Amino acid sequence: MSADARFPSTLRVRAHEPMKRHTSFGVGGPADLWVEVRSLPALRLALETANRLGIPRTVMGHGTNTLVADAGIDGLVIYNRYQDFNAHPANDFVRVASGHSMARLAGRCARLGLGGLSFAIGVPGTVGGAIYGNAGAFGSDVAAVLTSARVWRCGHESEVPASDFDFGYRQSNLHDDDKEPVVLAASFRVQPADPAVLRRELLALARRRRATQPLGQNAGSFFMNPDGDYAGRLIEAAGLKGHELGGAFVSPIHANFLSARPGGTATDVLDLAIAVRERVARASGVRLTPEVRLLGRWNSHARALFK
Ligand SMILES: Cc1cc2nc3c(=O)[nH]c(=O)nc-3n(C[C@H](O)[C@H](O)[C@H](O)COP(=O)(O)OP(=O)(O)OC[C@H]3O[C@@H](n4cnc5c(N)ncnc54)[C@H](O)[C@@H]3O)c2cc1C
Repeated sequence: MSADARFPSTLRVRAHEPMKRHTSFGVGGPADLWVEVRSLPALRLALETANRLGIPRTVMGHGTNTLVADAGIDGLVIYNRYQDFNAHPANDFVRVASGHSMARLAGRCARLGLGGLSFAIGVPGTVGGAIYGNAGAFGSDVAAVLTSARVWRCGHESEVPASDFDFGYRQSNLHDDDKEPVVLAASFRVQPADPAVLRRELLALARRRRATQPLGQNAGSFFMNPDGDYAGRLIEAAGLKGHELGGAFVSPIHANFLSARPGGTATDVLDLAIAVRERVARASGVRLTPEVRLLGRWNSHARALFK
């Protein structure tokens, strides 16, 4: 049963869903409306209904790169759990739904003896979120392995070649598109490889991650690395490793990981991020650019993160 009668009951739309349940920061206020979709028809139906009703909508994956405002999000949040997977080893590619986990994709391909996607073990989000932000780890990224993706745009669908996403460092042209296109599925290039070798590679990469990155309520690197330097190094050099402000703190393990404490708020994280950015600018002259996406009803204070 849908909490909003304008939506088909099969969609089971909920009202006032707390976004802190659906983001790795574990903070953020309610989505006016929220729906979990587990198939392509459900994803399309949610998009088409919001479109027809003129309701703003946000497609989210695992919420591992987003800071949602304490005041919540307008309209419908679509929590994408569409996770189909098809291997086409003879043609050297895999086809994956946009709600599939990147880390699970790395594991699946390794078991099938398909190489090229091991870096994805380091990306906790979905395929859709990874394409949106050209996610990368361990020296590779989406841009290096994506061949094409199916994209929904205002009710029309097309298969878009990878070269048309204008990928850059943690960037794609999905960011600046006011039509808010949605990735439905994607094809990634793979090569035949020994499953035992791939398995060892994944274990080594996962071990490396565990040794260098903190657990807890964070979204990975908060700021992008500036040209020729590391945001973490600059934050540490500004004396901010372990720095606390309200219900948020800079990780004492990795200075570019800003974390919320249990009970902390999105505003606490924002205030900390603004303070870190100002201190780094004063100490080094570098103005860091956030990698994390701010979603929802932020007030004008949030602009200080981008000035
Ligand atoms: C511990 C930790 C470690 C991390 N390490 C890395 C790392 O090594 N490298 C790295 O790149 N990132 C890293 N991240 C950040 C994050 O995992 C990636 O940015 C990831 O790609 C986000 O995917 P998501 O599904 O969680 O996206 P979300 O946070 O849900 O969404 C992010 C943005 O993508 C948009 N989006 C989501 N799905 C779609 C879709 N289907 N179509 C169009 N737009 C969509 C959303 O609207 C939003 O604007 C890390 C995060 C954590 C918590």
